[in-house]
Amino acid sequence: MTKLPLKSNQESGFSLSGLSGRVCVITGGAGILGQAICHGLAANGIRTAILDLNHEAANNLARALESETGTRCIGVSADVLNKESLEQAKKIVESEFGQVDFLINGAGGNSPKATTSKENYQPSSPLESGVEKIERSSIFDLDQSGFKFVFDLNFMGTLLPSQIFGEDMAKRGKGVIINISSMNSFKPLTKIPAYSAAKASVNNFTQWLAVHLAPAGVRVNAIAPGFFLTDQNRFLLIDKETGEPTARGQKIKSNTPMGRYGDPENLQGAVLFLLSDLSSFITGVILPVDGGYSAYGGV
Ligand code: NAD
Repeated sequence: MTKLPLKSNQESGFSLSGLSGRVCVITGGAGILGQAICHGLAANGIRTAILDLNHEAANNLARALESETGTRCIGVSADVLNKESLEQAKKIVESEFGQVDFLINGAGGNSPKATTSKENYQPSSPLESGVEKIERSSIFDLDQSGFKFVFDLNFMGTLLPSQIFGEDMAKRGKGVIINISSMNSFKPLTKIPAYSAAKASVNNFTQWLAVHLAPAGVRVNAIAPGFFLTDQNRFLLIDKETGEPTARGQKIKSNTPMGRYGDPENLQGAVLFLLSDLSSFITGVILPVDGGYSAYGGV
């Protein structure tokens, strides 16, 4: 777990001292990456409201973090696709903590329903084959509902909490929003068109909102995690039968100059930096945390 110095470091002159005691709302905070980010927040004294559809997991995490770090944390039930639910969550957070300083839009993910089983369309595949249809082999087999689910979760699920929690920040003239993007936002990855399009739109929205809220003193940035082995991508990266890396998993590792998947804890430094005044002149950036994946041309 990253615990950066709370007091000003005489040698570097850098400090995260402004973070302790501040209040952060993180959506999807009970998920795999969210949990690691929450650890980094609480370890640095940031009072954290973990908003998640899975209320029990959010509560359990909050209790564990409190006993481990001594920082007050709460789990709050919320659906990032439902404004009323977010308004309700905001009331709970404010009654526990007062005003919200930071928002991290972490809820998101992909679904097999919006994933093609083949990387490329193969004209020789018999279109009428029932098996091909069930496998959702190409773009022509994907249902609108799968696309809509993934697009909404990632894009609308970033927009709505930004509206609900961002407004008070803008009125107060201070705040930070961090969106969670992905590698596929820069160049789409094969098989996952909806997730790629949604995360590209998250990047675009990050820049738009950064410009829109800059005069109000609210900074808006994103982090773009590279490849972390989690529940949402395990089925693509590890063979269910053998437990061995799939061809896709092997390709990812060989295209990541640092030669490994990320550890969720690797996101903590980037998040703390973007929340803190160390990044006070940074807004509208999408920061890759990817072991060099996005820098590598493949040769
Ligand atoms: P995860 O599935 O482990 O966690 C997602 C969390 O969001 C879960 O706790 C889930 O209950 C919650 N959630 C889902 N729908 C929700 C809703 N409508 N309202 C509120 N909460 C909801 O996912 P993760 O791997 O921790 O990913 C977190 C973020 O990072 C996502 O935005 C994801 O797209 C992004 N990301 C993940 C990876 C990776 O390798 N895992 C890479 C790049 C980006």
